[in-house]
Amino acid sequence: MELRNKFKVIVVTGVPGVGKTTVINHLVKLAGERGLKIKAVNFGDYIVSLAVKEGLVNSRDEVRRLPLRRQLKIQELAAEAIISEASRELGEEGYLIIDTHALIKTPAGYWPGLPYHVVEKLKPDSIILVESDPETIVERQARDKTRYRLDIGGVEGVKLLMEQARSAAIASAVRCASTVQIIFNREGHPEEAALNLLKVLEGL
Ligand code: ATP
Ligand code: AMP
Ligand code: MG
Repeated sequence: MELRNKFKVIVVTGVPGVGKTTVINHLVKLAGERGLKIKAVNFGDYIVSLAVKEGLVNSRDEVRRLPLRRQLKIQELAAEAIISEASRELGEEGYLIIDTHALIKTPAGYWPGLPYHVVEKLKPDSIILVESDPETIVERQARDKTRYRLDIGGVEGVKLLMEQARSAAIASAVRCASTVQIIFNREGHPEEAALNLLKVLEGL
């Protein structure tokens, strides 16, 4: 099995509301200014569109509460779709950024976002954990009225999920020989986290 895709793959993870999507938006702008060929995708978009098509959900925060046997196949299809789309658009100089989760809190327990059948397709060069203080994350969750994240369980829920997500990221990284980097998303300065993420890209 090939260990890598032809383009570089950077998987960006972190608990709901930590600021992954925000930081990635800054990264795309920064990378574009430096002439890097970069494509950013949100794994959740693919999952949601497949789940909506099957009539299973209406909104993205409902997905993690679906029966897990239903999510398993959707998760694999999403990974396949992302890589086949990127393969048509990116060459060796390209970077694919995937906005996703190392671990998802579900009513049935912690669910890996990057289990073997997913990472064997994504083949990440690097897995990033975006982190902030749990208290700050809960404030961000509360401020963002576009999403429902109460099921993560407040400061205690976020703390536990962050701890377990680190282990999950390492387990996925060991499977695919990916690097793991923790990037702190400082309040009011997501562009700083994006700059640190850019340094990881440039070092791969
Ligand atoms: P999810 O996994 O649920 O998609 P996410 O990690 O992608 O969450 P975002 O949607 O990027 O999180 O951010 C959540 C909220 O926090 C948004 O309202 C965003 O504007 C805000 N935010 C993100 N980063 C920062 C930051 N550094 N300082 C202040 N606010 C931030
Ligand atoms: P997000 O906007 O990043 O929260 O993505 C929306 C939803 O998609 C998440 O809350 C999860 O339910 C689902 N999702 C995202 N990434 C994955 C993944 N790697 N595996 C399984 N489900 C995922
Ligand atoms: Mg997001």
